Parts: sequence; C-alpha cells; structure tokens
Amino acid sequence: MSKPRIYLSPPHLSEHEAPLVADVFASNWVAPAGPALDAFEREFAAKVGAKHATALVSGTAALHLALQVAGVGPGDEVACSTLTFVASANPIRYLGATPVFIDSEESTWNLDPGLLADFLKRRRAAGRLPKALVLVHLYGQSADLDAVCKLCDEYGVLLVEDAAESLGASYRGRSPGTFGRCGIYSFNGNKIITTSGGGMLVSEDAHLVQEARYLATQARDRVNYYQHSQIGYNYRLSNVLAAIGRGQLRVLEDRVEARRRNFARYQELLGDLPGLRFMPEAPYGRSSRWLTCVQIDPARFGADRETVRLALEAENIEARVVWKPLHLQPIFAGCERVGGEIAERLFDHGLCLPSGSALRDEDLARVAETVRRCARG
Ligand SMILES: *Cc1c(COP(=O)(O)O)cnc(C)c1O
Repeated sequence: MSKPRIYLSPPHLSEHEAPLVADVFASNWVAPAGPALDAFEREFAAKVGAKHATALVSGTAALHLALQVAGVGPGDEVACSTLTFVASANPIRYLGATPVFIDSEESTWNLDPGLLADFLKRRRAAGRLPKALVLVHLYGQSADLDAVCKLCDEYGVLLVEDAAESLGASYRGRSPGTFGRCGIYSFNGNKIITTSGGGMLVSEDAHLVQEARYLATQARDRVNYYQHSQIGYNYRLSNVLAAIGRGQLRVLEDRVEARRRNFARYQELLGDLPGLRFMPEAPYGRSSRWLTCVQIDPARFGADRETVRLALEAENIEARVVWKPLHLQPIFAGCERVGGEIAERLFDHGLCLPSGSALRDEDLARVAETVRRCARG
C-alpha cells in the first residue's frame, strides 16, 4: 500500500468556518451579496490595515478590476514582475494593454528595484513611460516597497500590488498589498487562507473600491431599471463563501506561524546539504513563508531539481517547480523584458516543498528524508 499523499499546500479549515456558514444557511441568505460578505470585507480591511476592501470571485478577477479602476486601458504598457504565476499578467491582456517583464533580485526573488529604476529612466528619456506596475510579493515575501514606491511616485507610474501569495506577511510592520493604488489577495484553495476560491481588492481610495464593486456586479447604473453605460462583470464573491473567509481570517496568524515553522524545520533537517539553498528572508520584513522554496545546484548537490521532484513524487509527495518566468511563456513571446537571467536560474534550480499549515512533524521528516537521499552520498 502506498503512503498517504502529502500535498503542496492544501486547504486547512479551522473550527470557525462551519458555524459561520451554518448561520448563513439559517438566515437563508446564500445570495445575493449579504451580511457575511459585508462583515468579511470589513474584517479583512481591518486585518491588513486597508481603508476599503471588496471581495471578489478570485484573485485574478481582483487584479483585473484593480488595473481597470486604476486606469489601465487599451494600448497602455504595464510593467510586471517576471517571476510569478501567469494570473499576475493575464489581466494586463484582458484590458488590451501590453506587459513588460522585469527580472528578480537574487536576495529576495522579487522585482529588482535597480532594474526598474534603469528601465523607467530609459523610458522617460524616450517619452514612453508605462502606465502601471504590477508588483508581485512572491511566495509569502514582500518586495522592496520603499524603493519601488519611491520610483512609482517619481515617474508617475500607478502601483498595483499582487499580494495573492503574501497575506499575513509584513513590510516594515505593514501588510504588503496596502502600499499601492490598489492591492489584491487570493483565497484560492492553495493559498494561506481560502474561501475555496475568492479574492479581495483593497485601496485607500473609497471611490476606486466603489467603482470596482460596481463593475463586479454588471455595472448597473444607479436608476430603478436595468440600464448600463459601461461593460461590467459578474465578479462578486458569494455570501456563503464570505462566511468561510471570516472563519479563516480568525486563524491567519496561526497559519503564518505554522508555515514559518515548516520552513524552520526543513532548514534544520536539510540545511547542512551542499548545493541546497533556501529562499532568503529580506531584512525589511517578515515572510509568511507561504511556500518553502529551495534552489538546488546540481553540481554541488549531486542531483538536479527534477530528479528531486521525481523522487518525491515516487514517495507520493507533491513538490512543484518554481514559477516559470512570464517572459519565457509562449503566450508572452515577443513581449519586452528587462533582464531575466536571475528568474531563469531560480526557475531552473527552484523547487517548492510541501508547505501546508497542517503538516505534521512526521510529514516534514518524510519529505526531508527523500530529499536527503537524492544528495551526493
Ligand atoms: C494565486 C495567484 C493569483 C491568482 O489568484 P486566484 O484567486 O487563483 O485567481 C495571482 N497572482 C499570484 C502571484 C498568485 O499566486
């Protein structure tokens, strides 16, 4: 009999969700938008320290609306971190805009502010500044927000933060996602907390959030019949799923602690292996360690990333390759990029280990043992 499967990052419910969902059922308010949704938005905004928030069907939908209400439209260019999930850039295309991909810095794996500075300087000289920047906070770690905010201010570039992977992290004591014009989060099943599927858009600007909510509900004009002056979407989160989110929000700190413990335990178990390096933690913040990621240098480790992944798979353990940079994606062939070599190396050597917040010590030991067996004897 095969051993039970260890997943990369499965949902982890607490004791809070079922009673909150039961309340929604008891009130019959499964639709439309209702009290649980309002409460979830309020509680979420308070948790991250944002003024306003609106809950949507996914992080991707949130990013789509964030870019639209920030003012991105057809023909615009939007800079974007290259080392990320495809959903960071697809919404740029939904709006008829064009992405330009910016490489990572080695020390945080996030967008390199030095490269961004060079790029913006060049583009200002050419009279072709991008309209916006999608700044990704990768794998639970905040990007260097002071440096990036300063550049966006200086050049008049709208900052939209993709904090889908970094709820619960901090940058100098504040939540990534709350620094830009808009920020977005995801409650997909593999994220740090989940509503089974969902997302959130936050902003300091009440008008922007109101605009996003209006677009998310078919952009109906404020008259007493069905009239529409703009193209809208059906993007609002359900009141039932919001109840799940309220329960999950109560255990967010526990989930961050558990994921940080996973990381620390992997470090204890594997930190001595030559050629295996853990994703660094930037001095300016605290990572939520959404996923524990390592880089494997095949020459020194004695096996490459793929060999390790397959050895884990043979043990019924799910590990995943670090995101393939967007500038290498077939759908973005021909898009401009700034650098890219660091992200390419992180992709070639990078592996994400099982990182769920419900992992037990024996699970972590099973993963570590398998990785260790691949290393040079
Ligand atoms: C998960 C994720 C998204 C998309 O969120 P969904 O809720 O799955 O639509 C966007 N950006 C990043 C970086 C993500 O990891």
